[in-house]
Amino acid sequence: MSDYFDGCTTPAEVKERWRALARRHHPDRGGDAATFHRVKAAYDMAMVEVTRPIVCEHCHGQGRVQQRHGFNVATLRCAACHGKGRTYRGDDT
Ligand SMILES: [Zn+2]
Repeated sequence: MSDYFDGCTTPAEVKERWRALARRHHPDRGGDAATFHRVKAAYDMAMVEVTRPIVCEHCHGQGRVQQRHGFNVATLRCAACHGKGRTYRGDDT
């Protein structure tokens, strides 16, 4: 991840950082156009990074969990990822 967005781990954090950086570097506000484009490119990359699906920790990407009831083993859809096996970091903006 680019230095501009260091420490940002959620889409909300990246967007917040982007708003601050855009205010500072926007050419309309006296910023340098080349720098602004670098920041914009870094923003796009950071957004891809933080919205990438991550393997569900609950079912280890299987989308299913096994639950024991005495001698019976029931295979259930993973509730954490709704059976997808992947989860996304929350976008809480
Ligand atoms: Zn899961």
